[in-house]
Amino acid sequence: MSSNESTDERSAIECPACGKCFLTARGMKSHHLQVHDEAVVGGESRKSER
Ligand SMILES: [Zn+2]
Repeated sequence: MSSNESTDERSAIECPACGKCFLTARGMKSHHLQVHDEAVVGGESRKSER
């Protein structure tokens, strides 16, 4: 249960493809575009789908 939205690493954005952490969603998206040659799927918002 995590009612508090306090992330550990300054709300690090994780790459959904490789799991690499980025400080910003932009950085993650940029990385995804360059490394994975594909626009990241989904939004920046951390939605608990699972
Ligand atoms: Zn990646």
